[in-house]
Amino acid sequence: PGSLYVVATPIGNLDDISARALRILREVALIAAEDTRHSARLLQHFGIDTPLAACHEHNERDQGGRFLARLQAGEDVALISDAGTPLISDPGYHLVRQARAAGFAVVPVPGACALIAALSAAGLPSDRFIFEGFLPAKAAGRRARLEQVREEPRTLIFYEAPHRILECLQDMRDVFGGDRPALLARELTKTFETLQGLPLAELSDWVAADSNQQRGECVVLVAGWQAPEGEEAVSAEALRVLDLLMAEMP
Ligand code: SAM
Repeated sequence: PGSLYVVATPIGNLDDISARALRILREVALIAAEDTRHSARLLQHFGIDTPLAACHEHNERDQGGRFLARLQAGEDVALISDAGTPLISDPGYHLVRQARAAGFAVVPVPGACALIAALSAAGLPSDRFIFEGFLPAKAAGRRARLEQVREEPRTLIFYEAPHRILECLQDMRDVFGGDRPALLARELTKTFETLQGLPLAELSDWVAADSNQQRGECVVLVAGWQAPEGEEAVSAEALRVLDLLMAEMP
């Protein structure tokens, strides 16, 4: 049987595609793509004429069988999305699941991923982090989700649409506090790439003051929650006093 290759494509700069990704896209019998017109331009740029078939969130579940039949027939299939790594806030989950369940080899071909690129240059703790994907579009849902991770100690990573970036940063400031270190990574690998690291209050003011910062694609990183140092010191002192008082009790 054939293999399903999960192939990362660039998130902006076309030079970020790997030599291995190009070879596999050239060699497979079929490329399952989120948007075939979008991917046709990418393939054309690299002179690749492998046939494309649509695999997006609306048909992925039903069309899976079609791709599995090709694998069963001994043909290799590649899965790509519009940008970056498939399945990361992109389609592909159902196809990968179905292929694995049917016993086919699923082979990752790693490459660009916006959250990892942002984290690698953010200077925020990177030993442990959580990826929250896109927040709910409406304010109430967004705030509720932020409340859930307010005391999360690991670095938080979010994807956000440009037209919501300002209200998103303002909600983060209100929920996490204006002092919390954060970073906005915008237009990574592209001409107007910007990485701005500031506490949330200053970061949201900076974005509010410059409408250019409210354009393009962006990743928001927020430092994890840290117990205020004072609080711990006070409670240790309180425990010491409590011990003394207890010792005096009859
Ligand atoms: N699969 C992609 C990946 O591996 O990163 C993510 C796809 S998701 C539909 C698109 C979101 O990823 C954007 O809204 C933005 O949050 C983020 N993103 C993608 N490309 C980016 C870039 N060049 N700079 C900053 N963020 C980017």
